[in-house]
Amino acid sequence: MQVEIKYIHEMISNEDNNKITRLLDNEPVGMTVQVVRVMGDGAFRQRLLEMGFVRGARVTVLKNAPLQDPVEYMILGAHISLRHSEAAQVEVTDQDAEFCDMEDAFNGIVETTVAGVDPMADNVLRVALVGNPNCGKTSLFNYVTGAKEKVGNYGGVTVDSKEGWFNIGGRKVQLVDLPGTYSLTEYSPEEMYVRTYIRDNHPDAILNIVDAGNLERNLYLTTQVMDMNIPMVIALNMWDELEKSGDHLDIEMMSRLLGARMVPMTAFNGHGVKEVLQATIDAIDESEQETRHHNVNYGALIEDSIKELSGMCPQLDRYTVLKIIENDQHALLLLNNQSNADQVKSTAAELRQRIERDYNDDIVSIITDLKYGFVRGALAEALTPNPDRATGETKPGYSLDRLLTNRWLALPILLVLMWLMFEATFTLGAYPQEWIESGIGWIGEWIGKAMPDGILRDLIVDGIIGGVGGVLVFLPQILILFFFISLLEDSGYMARAAFIVDRIMHRVGLHGKSFIPYLIGFGCGVPAIMATRTLENRRDRIVTILTIPFMSCSARLPAYLLLVAAFFTAKQGLILMSIYLIGILVAALTAIVLSKTVLKHDKTQFVMELPPYRKPTARNATIHMWSKGKQYLQKMATIILAASIIVWALGYFPRHEGQTPQEQIENSYMGMMGKAIEPVVEPLGFNWQMGVSVLTGAAAKEIVVSTMGVLYTGEADADEESASLKEKLQTATKPNGEPVFNPIVAYSFMLFILLYFPCIAALVAIRREAGTKWMIFEIIYTTAVAWLVSFIFYHIAILL
Ligand code: GDP
Ligand code: MG
Repeated sequence: MQVEIKYIHEMISNEDNNKITRLLDNEPVGMTVQVVRVMGDGAFRQRLLEMGFVRGARVTVLKNAPLQDPVEYMILGAHISLRHSEAAQVEVTDQDAEFCDMEDAFNGIVETTVAGVDPMADNVLRVALVGNPNCGKTSLFNYVTGAKEKVGNYGGVTVDSKEGWFNIGGRKVQLVDLPGTYSLTEYSPEEMYVRTYIRDNHPDAILNIVDAGNLERNLYLTTQVMDMNIPMVIALNMWDELEKSGDHLDIEMMSRLLGARMVPMTAFNGHGVKEVLQATIDAIDESEQETRHHNVNYGALIEDSIKELSGMCPQLDRYTVLKIIENDQHALLLLNNQSNADQVKSTAAELRQRIERDYNDDIVSIITDLKYGFVRGALAEALTPNPDRATGETKPGYSLDRLLTNRWLALPILLVLMWLMFEATFTLGAYPQEWIESGIGWIGEWIGKAMPDGILRDLIVDGIIGGVGGVLVFLPQILILFFFISLLEDSGYMARAAFIVDRIMHRVGLHGKSFIPYLIGFGCGVPAIMATRTLENRRDRIVTILTIPFMSCSARLPAYLLLVAAFFTAKQGLILMSIYLIGILVAALTAIVLSKTVLKHDKTQFVMELPPYRKPTARNATIHMWSKGKQYLQKMATIILAASIIVWALGYFPRHEGQTPQEQIENSYMGMMGKAIEPVVEPLGFNWQMGVSVLTGAAAKEIVVSTMGVLYTGEADADEESASLKEKLQTATKPNGEPVFNPIVAYSFMLFILLYFPCIAALVAIRREAGTKWMIFEIIYTTAVAWLVSFIFYHIAILL
């Protein structure tokens, strides 16, 4: 370290005493500075280096977040958010210093020869999609395989691999969509996932997707993939955006400089996709005959070191050998079952010291610098930027951005947008809902009249139609909610929301990045829990996972919609939103407590990328809606149907002659169960039917409504058969004649539904991501919180 600091100062003093400051010493907005070095060590430093904070790189200060922290910077044409404390790690100089060693780094490529593999060994061609987050991998995957995987304009949408198939030239190819990564250093779970996937499954080819408008950063990952010695084709995606920007890229020359085929493509409309796929197949076929691979030339010293070490462990690929020289812990683990492991390690250490001495820097910076130098050198030859190219503030969408992230308006706008979303869900959804409702009512009546009295008729009318139908009517609302979420995601606003609230999230011990899983949680907790994989720190991840269930998922929406419509006449959108806000509040309090106690940890540092604003496409929004709608219907046809039948049967048996429907259900198995738990739920203002509903709702939250549907159908008189569930709830009375529900009871019930026990599917996801211990904690904790909150609310509200 000592040597390094001396070196920097020497270098700087050679250049007329350029003033070195920290990025934190807040350069005014609009100022551009040059990076001298990134201080500190460990994963965060590595991530900053990988994102382009290498010596000589230019950083522009774009803006402060509304709460003054974090700050948005532009580096390599990408927008990145850093907190003050993180920016303080970057040393910069405001002079136009010459960093001559950067451009010198381009040594071109070297060729290595490795033993060829027969790509058809298992009769399947396997192609893996590798690329930075948000470069269009899933868009391509969907286009090629006809899949309907989720696309979104921010990093971290795809968190595990998805497989699809396509045919080309009579051959069947498996395409694998992997999570986006900035590098393969295995420091976040996604990177680990991609790296492990490639190592274990050894795809026949890698299709490297790059954002053509942001080549410098995107090609950094390419330099790592090149070293893995797997046939590779580079798809220059977002070619439409590059053409619009007026930049010119000489694809021929670029391909030659990198030693890899490059093909332009626009994934979302399919331009160039065929050529990309053909090139990929060609690359596989060529590798059958030849086994040449092109690698980055790191210069004589490092190349010799790689050669020397490769000789000692010939089975490891070039990528891993280089990682061993870099002292990468994961790579070193691969040596464990090797007899000469110690010898390799000591040689690697020697080589490392030699390189560090020679370059006067630490190995991680050296290699990163060299890789960026290679990319920069190639781009200097092949890319002619449009001199009038819009950058930063002048890019399309950025006048809007100034409003959306305005110091005073940003948070109000965020709240208004959320409110609009819920209000629209409510009001727009009400019309198609009525049609479905009357349709279902009509079918129920018709079947009721057509069929003879008996068990089967009761099962169909009360069990299936009452249960499934009660939930099915909310399909339009679900579709509308997902349509809005999709718009927010595709436009790029989602990532801005994370930027805006980062400071607040910080207060509760989390990072703005957790905001995205939370927002997804309003749709469904399961993908939200998966989405926490973008958080690098395990403790952060667990806090986020445990609090996601408080983000009210769309499966709970039917219950709210039913209760709000039945018992509140005014301000329905606001009441609905208040439920969501209370969920957020409970999540925040939980996060504060957890991150201050059992899950205490140092401040986490993340680099968050802010994607460009894009016009949301109708195609994406429709695909998203369609696939959610399908999932919802599938859930209806399976779990909700089964649950409705079980609930109905429990309420129908044992039969007693000569009892009113009301008495019958009270004396049924369900009634007995309900009576047993009644003492627990009575202090919350619930009757036993509500208690049973929340109990069955543990399987899936929609079942709360379907259970009520079944329980209250039995209560209706024959001629009231077609009354909607809403009307039945409004008229339900206790044995003493008082109405069961009133606004206070309804709200208390909604609070309980909001907070209690996540559904089984979410619990399974929690168990997989955080472990059994945390799953058990979650079950107990959420239920206790739900009970307490409902209890307190109910008792305060009836006093007022
Ligand atoms: P992934 O994270 O790499 O899987 O990227 P996605 O497929 O989720 O896409 C990221 C964003 O880029 C989405 O908003 C897409 O609509 C958009 N996108 C994808 N391909 C293209 C393209 O070729 N041109 C343009 N302009 N946008 C694209
Ligand atoms: Mg994706």
